[in-house]
Amino acid sequence: MKAWMIKGEHEIELTDLGAQQVSSSCVKIKMLTSSIDTPEVALFNDSGQNLPLIAGRNGVGIVTETGEEVTGFKRGDRVYVRPVSSCGECSLCRSGHKSECEHSYTYGKTENGVLRDFMVVPQSDLILLPPKVSPDEGVFIESVALCIAAIDKLKLEKGEHIVIVGASSVGLILAQVALYYQAVPILVDMRQDRLDLAEKFGIYYTVNAVDTDPVKKIFSLTCGKMAETMAYCLFTNMPVQRAFECLARGGRAAFVGFDDAKINLTFDFMPLFHKALSVCSVTGAEDNYLSAVNMLASKAVDVLPLISKRVKFEEVGDSVKEVASCVTKYITLLVEIDKI
Ligand SMILES: [Zn+2]
Repeated sequence: MKAWMIKGEHEIELTDLGAQQVSSSCVKIKMLTSSIDTPEVALFNDSGQNLPLIAGRNGVGIVTETGEEVTGFKRGDRVYVRPVSSCGECSLCRSGHKSECEHSYTYGKTENGVLRDFMVVPQSDLILLPPKVSPDEGVFIESVALCIAAIDKLKLEKGEHIVIVGASSVGLILAQVALYYQAVPILVDMRQDRLDLAEKFGIYYTVNAVDTDPVKKIFSLTCGKMAETMAYCLFTNMPVQRAFECLARGGRAAFVGFDDAKINLTFDFMPLFHKALSVCSVTGAEDNYLSAVNMLASKAVDVLPLISKRVKFEEVGDSVKEVASCVTKYITLLVEIDKI
């Protein structure tokens, strides 16, 4: 079995792991697709504390062998490797906040990841993909699930406005999920090509902050009321302060992104206090994986146009270096590991 291993800070190498035994409750899968994004870059930039570790957080594969106690999966099934698993027993897990569990493990962060040709995984970490979800679409499951978690945490109601700051892959998915929930997304970014893509997804309110003042525009779109909710997606150029100005008094805001993003955000808290805003963070997918699979299967969310580059398995090392030099260069970089 071959794997892309991060061996030290800024050191990535294709490593031969030899054969791996399939224990009784595990499943062997041939990997089909994965992606290179902020989690892979975070590991590549790691100072060494978690290394060496195989990279890759999101991946889809096909079952090639099952342990004798495995039920529910058979050879030929297409599966998504659930990237984060929580303990299910701590107080946070029991109160329904599994993504905040301190005992969780994450592929490509605390455990060897999915960027390999074959892997052996406990069956509890696998999600069966319906035929309508392709291996390319499958790598977006966690992002869709994160966006569902954001909608839940913001308590977004039908007909409410949600200002989404940042047309990253998460921002572009969140806008579609908001439409599905019959809310009114207003997407703000400074890259016209990303906003044009949003319009193709049916997002009818987009604001290019290069030539339009987002606060004035949102004032006019909401007839002076301003927005009830706002989601600040990481890796956007718009200052946080400005994003909060888009909210109405008593508005709800969320910072949305995976917890391995490294970014410095500073802002003045007093306007939050004066406008009685509530703010939360959304860093994980909670238990929304199956809902995300359903949204992809029913085509409520279109993710394929978010793939801005495809690379082969052999090219992963160079591609990780390329993405690390500019995280926002691609919306999503898809790795084609193998075909069915
Ligand atoms: Zn827990």
